[in-house]
Amino acid sequence: MTTALSESATNSLIIDNAHLIGGEWVPAVSGETIEVINPATREVLARVPRGTAADVDNAVRAAEAAFPAWRDTNATARGILVAKWADLIQRHEAELDKLESQEVGRPHWGPSPIPRMLHFIAGQADKVLGHTMPTMSPDVIGLTLREPYGVVGSIIPWNAPGPMFANDVAAAIAAGNTIVIKPAEDAPLTPLALAKLAMEAGIPAGVVNVVTGYGNEAGAAIPAHPGVRRMSFTGSPQTGELIMAACARNLTPLHLELGGKSPQVIFADADLDAAIPAITAGITLNTGQVCAAGSRVVVERSIHAEVVRRLAEEMKKVTVGPWHKPVRMGPLINAKQHDRVLGYIKLGQEEGAELVTGGGVPRGEEFERGFFVEPTLFDNVGPGMRIAQEEIFGPVLSVIPVDSEEEALAVANGTDYGLVASVWTPDVGRAVRMSRGLQAGQVHVNAALGAGVIGAPFGGYKRSGFGRTMSADAVLNFTHVKAVSLRGTR
Ligand code: NAP
Ligand code: MG
Repeated sequence: MTTALSESATNSLIIDNAHLIGGEWVPAVSGETIEVINPATREVLARVPRGTAADVDNAVRAAEAAFPAWRDTNATARGILVAKWADLIQRHEAELDKLESQEVGRPHWGPSPIPRMLHFIAGQADKVLGHTMPTMSPDVIGLTLREPYGVVGSIIPWNAPGPMFANDVAAAIAAGNTIVIKPAEDAPLTPLALAKLAMEAGIPAGVVNVVTGYGNEAGAAIPAHPGVRRMSFTGSPQTGELIMAACARNLTPLHLELGGKSPQVIFADADLDAAIPAITAGITLNTGQVCAAGSRVVVERSIHAEVVRRLAEEMKKVTVGPWHKPVRMGPLINAKQHDRVLGYIKLGQEEGAELVTGGGVPRGEEFERGFFVEPTLFDNVGPGMRIAQEEIFGPVLSVIPVDSEEEALAVANGTDYGLVASVWTPDVGRAVRMSRGLQAGQVHVNAALGAGVIGAPFGGYKRSGFGRTMSADAVLNFTHVKAVSLRGTR
């Protein structure tokens, strides 16, 4: 028996074969289940219900039934419940971290961001303000009300199931909505555990409903349901198109958080001692399965050779192995993703890019059953090559040399995506020009994944999606506006 087997058997937060509908832990209507596996060992961690449209319908009805009382719960009380949920999550931090590691395969990545995300959102619950407006005559008052939509639908991916779940659920319910959310089939256990803690915190039955299942079954049923009044989707652009088409049929407003091909632009005057480790960490964190991962290095030719040499050295230092060992990088999530990433590595070589380091599956007994891949660096990548244009969602970094600031900007902006972009330079003028010129929802100067701004809005330009989360408007985004005019009678 491997360490992973005994480790996984002991997690008290694993919920076996039940999802949450109207406050009850129930199996799927079909009675069928899906196995959730540990991607480092392929061992089964638990089974979850294979929900379908019937389960989604039950969940939407439960959410509709819970909505009036939750909407009418005063905003301060709603905020307090979200804060209590945050505190319970903090108390269970170690078990939750382990659970997410088990199903995603990532090593421990520092303190959980979830409690502070939820406290940030909880603080907004009672600050949903409207306006007053001037009126044509003094016997009239004009004002706006911000109201919840009703039942919100949400679909999230597997790469960071805990933060994704908490962020969407907390913002939606803080605004007074109820929610039906489907986690990814590969990582539903952390969301289910978080839902259990939400119930323990005192969030009423039916406010948070979790339906597990496959994307094309349970997932597709959510935007198709006429009872869903507002939709959130985080995942690939391909699935995003399907969600948007389904929403179009019901004229349901939606928010799309999609993929990225984020550039790291390095100018000749950059502080490479800071840039090289940050860029390496950015593409190997979670095995490169991060929507914001900086997967393209756009570098001035005068320092190109040095940057490639130092990136290769740094990437070779990234230790790979199962999550429970002291390593920096775990396996990819599943066999499909493994084939996809290895396929892109092969494609890069066929396209004529130069493989500098990595490029294969690490050798050794502990790698045999998991979906491991080496941190991989390609040099002399053409900006039009498919490995420079398409999201790989793995630890594969492409270096593209350029000759000027103009070319750097054109290459950085030259993909269909626009999620995050970084610029490395001490030159303020250049930093300002690039910050304005880069087409991305977030631009970081001298930082790879952000320099630690609290509550920075997050979301995409172009095919990275639209709408923003995590901002000062996180809760407002889950409301719509009603204009009221009040004429006084004598
Ligand atoms: P995906 O295939 O689009 O899956 C995302 C979610 O959609 C999963 O819950 C999936 O369920 C569900 N789904 C799949 N097909 C569906 C359908 N026909 N109808 C309704 N739902 C459906 O994405 P992925 O490959 O798992 O995740 C990686 C992608 O997500 C990358 O492109 C990444 O950049 C993006 N991402 C974006 C952000 C962001 O904030 N911008 C964050 C993380 C990830 P099943 O998996 O159970 O089939
Ligand atoms: Mg999937």
